[in-house]
Amino acid sequence: MSELHKFIFEGLPVRGMLVRLTDGWKEVLARRTEAGDVFPAPVRALLGEMAAAGVLMQSNIKFNGALVLQMYGDGPVKLAVAEVQPDLAFRATAKVVGTVADDARLEALLNVGGQGRCAITLDPADKRAGQQPYQGVVSLHGDLREPLQNLSEVLEHYMLQSEQLDTRLVLAANDEVAAGLLIQRMPMAGAANLAEGSQRSADEDEIGRNEAYNRIAHLAATLTREELLTLDAPTILRRLFWEETLRQFEPQQGEHGPRFVCNCSRERVGGMLRALGRDEIDGIVVEQGRVEIACDFCGRKYHFDPVDVGGLFTPPRDQMPGSEAIN
Ligand SMILES: [Zn+2]
Repeated sequence: MSELHKFIFEGLPVRGMLVRLTDGWKEVLARRTEAGDVFPAPVRALLGEMAAAGVLMQSNIKFNGALVLQMYGDGPVKLAVAEVQPDLAFRATAKVVGTVADDARLEALLNVGGQGRCAITLDPADKRAGQQPYQGVVSLHGDLREPLQNLSEVLEHYMLQSEQLDTRLVLAANDEVAAGLLIQRMPMAGAANLAEGSQRSADEDEIGRNEAYNRIAHLAATLTREELLTLDAPTILRRLFWEETLRQFEPQQGEHGPRFVCNCSRERVGGMLRALGRDEIDGIVVEQGRVEIACDFCGRKYHFDPVDVGGLFTPPRDQMPGSEAIN
């Protein structure tokens, strides 16, 4: 069963989380296989790491809305997306064009021409009219403009930029498990009482300097991908941190834990078709008799016959009373 473990280091300004996605992750891949469109192995590994990282990042913030992790690439992977809801429901997909080498890493997948980007979007569930989602974007390069080869490095960079907090991430995925370990320095104690500006500078002063964090992050970095994929959470934590005093919280699993859910709907697909424009959609109807579209995340198929398509482009006020308006 997929699970999320949260823990703190007693008396130290350091917290951690360990996620293992098993059944839900396998379902993401199985649905792709059913649709007859299997991603190349390096893309599956990237998506698994993104799903694991998305769950860790979503659990790490207090935010009522979706966390969407997107990678935009100029290599064979044009787009990779992992989306995690506040209740840890997740889904993931990618758009791949062209050939992916078996040993392709981040640069070869997404950053061939140096234009790859990683965007983290927080999309509020209760958006006010006109409110834009919050989005942070980082490049796939390190401080010396060197191309990064691991998603974990990209996200560590993002966390430092956006939250001013040191973060260590270890991620790994195969076709059975997508897993991640996050270790993070907690904001300065009592900083909440200070003005936001001084909290920021106090936290900035601590970057890279907190000895307890540095020690624990160093231990975390010794975790191999193989260990992360094959060992259970208690074993990993015991092996890494046996000299530290850990306080562990009740693991989140089952319906309270990370799991695959796709929230696609006919209304949303209809909205997407509307955005493409009437001419485009009419063209498909003329050619194929109807529009058939499959959800990229779960493979569910949606059909729109000519009458449905007409309804999509009819303003609700012109529809017959009782007919179904698609908004
Ligand atoms: Zn779907």
